[in-house]
Amino acid sequence: MAHIVIIGAGIGGLPMAYEMRDAARAEDRITVISKDAKFHFVPSNPWVAVNWRQRADIEIDPSEVLARKQIDFIPTGARRVHPQENAVELEDGRKIEYDYLVIATGPKLAFDEVPGLGPHDGFTQSVCHVDHAVTSERAWQDFVKDPGPVVVGAVQGASCFGPAYEFAMILDADLRKRKIRDRVPMTFVTSEPYIGHLGLAGVGDSKGIMESAYRDRHIKWICNARVERIEDGMMHVIEHDDEGKEKRRHELPFKFSMMLPAFKGVDAVFGVEGLVNPRGFVLIDKYQRNPTHRNIFSVGVCVAIPPVEATPVPTGTPKTGYMIESMVTATAHNIRALIDGREPAETATWNAVCLADFGDTGAAFVAIPQIPPRNMNWFAQGKWVHLAKIGFEKYFLRKMRKGTTEPVYEKVVMNAIGIAKLKQPGG
Ligand code: FAD
Repeated sequence: MAHIVIIGAGIGGLPMAYEMRDAARAEDRITVISKDAKFHFVPSNPWVAVNWRQRADIEIDPSEVLARKQIDFIPTGARRVHPQENAVELEDGRKIEYDYLVIATGPKLAFDEVPGLGPHDGFTQSVCHVDHAVTSERAWQDFVKDPGPVVVGAVQGASCFGPAYEFAMILDADLRKRKIRDRVPMTFVTSEPYIGHLGLAGVGDSKGIMESAYRDRHIKWICNARVERIEDGMMHVIEHDDEGKEKRRHELPFKFSMMLPAFKGVDAVFGVEGLVNPRGFVLIDKYQRNPTHRNIFSVGVCVAIPPVEATPVPTGTPKTGYMIESMVTATAHNIRALIDGREPAETATWNAVCLADFGDTGAAFVAIPQIPPRNMNWFAQGKWVHLAKIGFEKYFLRKMRKGTTEPVYEKVVMNAIGIAKLKQPGG
């Protein structure tokens, strides 16, 4: 009997538990440890933040389905991973021993790196967690009663830019519906070197398309931006030139702001020797396996991947759903291989596929492989993306409720755009 422990029950962790159940032997034990008792579908948080969804619409309690699949569930946070002891210490002091560990904790949100950033001690909202989206929604309801300037974007070191673009467009669409868009000057502030860079050095003509969409919607932008500090109603931004030198200082008044933070690794692994890089992201080889602690694997946003290119203001590379899905499948097969005494052989497909909602329309991008030059570099927009995103949400939530393991991207998204078979060699 092998005991496989998964930390995290999010977009990576919960499918990981289901796929591991399918891949493991009947006698193997699987345990999921999660600090959140419920799963929530992170990509729908921006909709919760404008009351287009209720929290309950995008959350599920996984305890029943996990029990049915004979997977143990511990809804308690992990305090520390102890690789030397093959154990995870929980917040309540218990220690859970493992034969194989999968770390799927997502990121720690580094709000503390910019004074005044974030919904806890700062002055900006967030959509990274459903709790934040709920807080943001309350602020939005107050805002629309007495509107003013809006600032949306992503600070220095951020890697997940898509949701910032989505949220700016969703706010624009919501304001237009309310017929108060004319009272709201909007500015997009980003560490990216240009609009549509997305942490991926652009995808197709993402620059042209996104700039045009922003012009069309009267959203101004500041790129190469480092947010120096945020006060109540005022953001201090330093714009840089292409060489990273200070170019101009901006003082941006706002009545509502949502800024995505930089990510780092969670405290439970931060600083664990051989396990993580200096930012706390889990080091993995091409089999999702930690090179030092060989019975530890990792999937999702918490893995270490290098930036696609150096930018004047630091940016990171996004880890999106398709990539995460393929990391999960590879990990399940590789752990089974080790259980059977074989070497891991499965690798993830490091491709970026994303649907970004713009409220009533949307944009889809496919970057294969993620690092240019690429075999496929495709970016398109249209109303169909908005509808596809709703379909994707429903499909993913259904899959999580039922505990099934069919690959959503391979089956739905990639097939829909006719590229299911295009993979990297070895992928
Ligand atoms: P998460 O889904 O965040 O899950 C992390 C899990 O770990 C949670 O269950 C959490 O409770 C648990 N956890 C954390 N710390 C601990 C601990 N110490 N102990 C125990 N449990 C812990 N990608 C796309 O492809 N398409 C999209 O449309 C898209 N939209 C996005 C929108 C937003 C607002 C954001 C922030 C990201 C989006 N992404 C999107 C990127 C990515 O797919 C998501 O961030 C995704 O949620 C990452 O999955 P994950 O499993 O790594 O982390």
